[in-house]
Amino acid sequence: MTEGIDHTLRDRWTPSGEATALPGHATRWLRARTGLDPADTPAAPASVLAVADSALSEPARAALAEVVGEPNVSTDRQARLGRAGGLSYLDLLRRRSGAELAVPDAVVLPNSPAEVQGVLEVCVEHDLAVVPFGGGTSVVGGVTALRGDKRAAVALDLAHLDQLVSVDPVSRIAVLQAGVRAPEAERLLAAHGFTLGHFPQSFERATIGGFAATRSAGQASSGYGRFEDMVEGIRMATPSGEWRLGAAPASAAGPDLRQLVVGSEGAFGVITEVTVRVRPVPTARRYEGFVLDGWERGVAAVRAMAQYRGLADVTRLSDVDETEVSLALSGGLRTAALRAYLRARRVRRPCLLILGWEVEDGRELAWKRMASLRVLREFDPVTLGRTAGESWRHKRFAGPRQRDALLDIGVCVETLETATHWSQIAALWSSVRGALVGSLTTENRCPVVMCHISHAYETGASLYFTAIVPRDPVDPVGQWQQAKAAACNAIAAHNTAWGGPTGTITHHHAVGTDHRPWLEGEIGAVGAEVLAAVKERLDPTGILNPGKLVPGCDQNGGRANST
Ligand SMILES: Cc1cc2nc3c(=O)[nH]c(=O)nc-3n(C[C@H](O)[C@H](O)[C@H](O)COP(=O)(O)OP(=O)(O)OC[C@H]3O[C@@H](n4cnc5c(N)ncnc54)[C@H](O)[C@@H]3O)c2cc1C
Repeated sequence: MTEGIDHTLRDRWTPSGEATALPGHATRWLRARTGLDPADTPAAPASVLAVADSALSEPARAALAEVVGEPNVSTDRQARLGRAGGLSYLDLLRRRSGAELAVPDAVVLPNSPAEVQGVLEVCVEHDLAVVPFGGGTSVVGGVTALRGDKRAAVALDLAHLDQLVSVDPVSRIAVLQAGVRAPEAERLLAAHGFTLGHFPQSFERATIGGFAATRSAGQASSGYGRFEDMVEGIRMATPSGEWRLGAAPASAAGPDLRQLVVGSEGAFGVITEVTVRVRPVPTARRYEGFVLDGWERGVAAVRAMAQYRGLADVTRLSDVDETEVSLALSGGLRTAALRAYLRARRVRRPCLLILGWEVEDGRELAWKRMASLRVLREFDPVTLGRTAGESWRHKRFAGPRQRDALLDIGVCVETLETATHWSQIAALWSSVRGALVGSLTTENRCPVVMCHISHAYETGASLYFTAIVPRDPVDPVGQWQQAKAAACNAIAAHNTAWGGPTGTITHHHAVGTDHRPWLEGEIGAVGAEVLAAVKERLDPTGILNPGKLVPGCDQNGGRANST
């Protein structure tokens, strides 16, 4: 079990001080393309950040310490700052600028599911809000320390629930505690010859409980499935008592209540253990790159692969802008040669497609690869070979570090995602893209808005947008808030135009605070009432994660409890 309390300030993906820098050619390209005037904008030192005194009463602190032990309750400034929000662009920006932060009044680290249950009981008794905190990688305000109408807010950090509880190799299932981080989960499972196969870009920091609480999707979701597909069972502490779900691999015993808990974002209870389906560690692996001429053709190719059993385990299609940015940021002679090669092949609007297969043996690899290529061949792909595929695989977790480097030189960079059916991919792509470009363009700032499909299904796919634009020096927070609202409104308007929900406000980032205003539009008034009723039953006094997920609950949950 992990000891003590982590005091690391989370002002960047890598620990404070670790250097990340953009290569010179990338900065030059940004200057020419976006109008960026690179400026040194380092993170503000922790000492200048505004942190109000803890509002936790001494009796409440003592009661929490009674449950988890004195060393596992902290009102220390640095420990609280370390749980002051997630890792969205705005979270990082606020921490960098010294702006007002919602800082929890205390950090509590229970050591077992029973202690989690005990902490909830104390919090009910002392009227304390509880913000479950896994890896803290939420990009939608999911771990923002909102107090709502409670006396104080406690960050319930699951870091000490870091054990592999059991493995059933016959059934291929394993029980993991909620605070196990993804790399550690892979290490623990590999000792038994298994993998979870869940590799989101936040892999290095996110936890098993966080994945379940947010319906996460990993980069290999086409092969291994989304996280909810991996969940066999759940153990959850709630203010109304412990709830255990999942008795068999399949069941007709009424609705699948596990799905009420998967995606509940800490608003219904605290997940303490997850029983997950595991797979043998792949022994054969191959990644390849292709280029298709035009986004429409690329989308048609991915759809065909999805509908004719040709999806690779990793299937990722970039639009023209994202492909252009990848080439520009890579730079060098190889990129120049690639551009010439594509010109010679008369590819005018290159869209990069990465396919990756990860399987148990070489024969299966050959068979699966053939199934993909048989479908892809119809779309005239230009083959880039294994170097391009392997290059993507090696850099698959580099995005967050690149984001830090961009933030350091004054760039506004953020992502958002949605999903829709194949028949509406083109329309939704166009309207969200248009909303972002329209909102972020000014006389001297020209945004790059790019998109990729990384999760494909028989009926549709996700759309993952990244926007890069010089940061507004006067109102950097408002700059992104307006763009994000424009994109969310575009998704809502798309749904109205099609006579009902056909696009989601989030495909895998979850609802948190940021998407909550748009949730009812997607699930309807009855859906919102059902969520509120479930919350009322499990959390009657509303201590759990105020202001997140459930529309209409705790209207004052949005109040920041800092200065
Ligand atoms: C750079 C970056 C890349 C990302 N890439 C991806 C990606 O590829 N795919 C993807 O799906 N997501 C991605 N995300 C989003 C994020 O990583 C996921 O939402 C992840 O599932 C959160 O896990 P976590 O442990 O960090 O949870 P946290 O951020 O700690 O919490 C997320 C939410 O779940 C709640 N919660 C956490 N643990 C528990 C628990 N045990 N019980 C109940 N509630 C709990 C929290 O209160 C919060 O509402 C990315 C984020 C970043 C910053």
